[in-house]
Amino acid sequence: MNRTKYDVVVAGGSISGLLTAREIGSKSSISVKVLEADHEIGTPEHCGGLVSLSGLRKLGIVPSSRTFRNHITRAKICSKSSSFVVDAKVQDVVAVDRRELDKQLAFQAQEVGVEVTTMCPVKSVSACHELGVNNSHKVENGYSYAVSTVEGTVYCKYFVDARGLSSLIRRHRTGILPSAQYEVFAPWIDPDTVELYFDADKYPGFFAWIIPLGEDRAKIGVAGRDINIVNSINSFLESKNSSYTISRKIFAPIYVSGPIGDFIEGNRSLIVGDAAGQTKPTTAGGILSSGMGGVLAGRAIIKAIEQEDDSFLGNYPNEWHSIFGFEFKKLILARKIFEHLDNKALDGLFSTVSQPTLSRISQNGEFDFHSAPLSLILNARFTSRLVKGLLEGSLKRAK
Ligand SMILES: Cc1cc2nc3c(=O)[nH]c(=O)nc-3n(C[C@H](O)[C@H](O)[C@H](O)COP(=O)(O)OP(=O)(O)OC[C@H]3O[C@@H](n4cnc5c(N)ncnc54)[C@H](O)[C@@H]3O)c2cc1C
Repeated sequence: MNRTKYDVVVAGGSISGLLTAREIGSKSSISVKVLEADHEIGTPEHCGGLVSLSGLRKLGIVPSSRTFRNHITRAKICSKSSSFVVDAKVQDVVAVDRRELDKQLAFQAQEVGVEVTTMCPVKSVSACHELGVNNSHKVENGYSYAVSTVEGTVYCKYFVDARGLSSLIRRHRTGILPSAQYEVFAPWIDPDTVELYFDADKYPGFFAWIIPLGEDRAKIGVAGRDINIVNSINSFLESKNSSYTISRKIFAPIYVSGPIGDFIEGNRSLIVGDAAGQTKPTTAGGILSSGMGGVLAGRAIIKAIEQEDDSFLGNYPNEWHSIFGFEFKKLILARKIFEHLDNKALDGLFSTVSQPTLSRISQNGEFDFHSAPLSLILNARFTSRLVKGLLEGSLKRAK
C-alpha cells in the first residue's frame, strides 16, 4: 500500500461499506479507502438479492442489465397444510445479482476517487491516543485511528466498520441463525413467484424460501434455530418429488434481532449495515436498511468534516432510526409472535387470511416496510386469542 493516510477508512467492501464510500467520495476534498478481505468484490455472493426497485432508488442505485436478474410478481406463503398468495405487482420487486450489484457500486465509488483494495483484511483498529510507546504502530498526529491490515498500517480520521456479521458476532451473540442457500436448476420453479414455507418443527424461528431467477433457476434456502442446515435443505428439495440440479451451495449466518447500540463506537468510529444489526428482524433482508446505514453514515461524516464538528455524526443514528426504528420495533414484535406459533397455529392463521385482506396487501403493502401487511395477517381476533393462550401457558408453568 503506497499511501497510508486517509480522511476515512471503510472496512468491508460490500453494499453498506461501498455506499458509505461512494457517498463520501462524491466530495472530492475527502480521501476514502475501502479495505475488503475477499479477493473479489461481491464474492462469495451469499444474498438472495430480493429487493424492491423503489428501495434501490432510495439508495441511489439503478440496476444495470448485468445486475438485474428477474421480476417477481407474486408471493406464495405456505404453512404445513394451508397457503395464500399475494399479488405483488405494485411492489415492483426484483431479484438482483448481488455480485454484480456490489461490483457496480465499487466502480461508482472508484469513479469518484475512492480507493478500493481487495484481499486486504483489517486485522485490528486502534485509537491513536491509546497507542502506547511499546506499541508497534507509530502515533500519527491529527489521525484518530491506526488500522492494521495484512499490507501494513493505514491511518485515518474516521473509521467505518462495514464488516457484516463477522463484526457483529464479536459484539453480539444472540439472534444469529444458520442458513443454507443453493442455486438450483429445476423445471418446477415458478418463474414469477417467491415462495416462503413456514414449519415450526423444520425451520424454527425462520422459514424455507424459493427466489426465482428466471430460466428455471432459483435461489432456494432454509434457516432456523438449532437445526442441521444441510439435512433441512436436502429434505426440502426432496419434498418437491421432482428433479433438480444444484449449481452452487452457500452457507452463511443471518441475523434477526434488530439494531444494536447507537452505531457509533468511540469518537469517530461508525458501524454500518449488518455489522450494526440493520437487517429486518422478520426476513433478515438488509439491502435497503443496511445500505441506507451506509448512505446516512457517509452523509454524517461529510457534514462533520465540512463543519469541523463531530456532533454531526449523531445525525446518522438519528436519521436511520427515524426511517427504520418504529418499523423494526413492530417487526421484532411480529417475530416474537411467530416464534410462539406451532404448526397448528400457523395453519389456523394462514387459513383465516381473507381475499379482501390479500387485496389490501397487494394494493397498499410495501415490500421494504412490511409491518403493515403483517399486522393485517395477524388479525386482531387471532392475536388476542394467541396472547390469551400464551398468558394461560405462562400461568400454568408458574403454578
Ligand atoms: C442467505 C442470505 C440471503 C439473503 N437474502 C437477502 C435478500 O434476498 N434481500 C435482502 O435485502 N437481503 C438479503 N440478505 C441480507 C443481505 O445480504 C445483507 O443485509 C447485506 O449484504 C449486508 O451488507 P453489509 O455490507 O452490511 O455486509 P456484508 O454484505 O456481509 O459485507 C461485509 C463485507 O465485509 C468484508 N469483511 C469481513 N471481515 C473483514 C475484515 N476483517 N476486513 C475487511 N473486510 C472484511 C466481507 O468480505 C464482506 O465483503 C441475505 C443474507 C443471507 C446470508
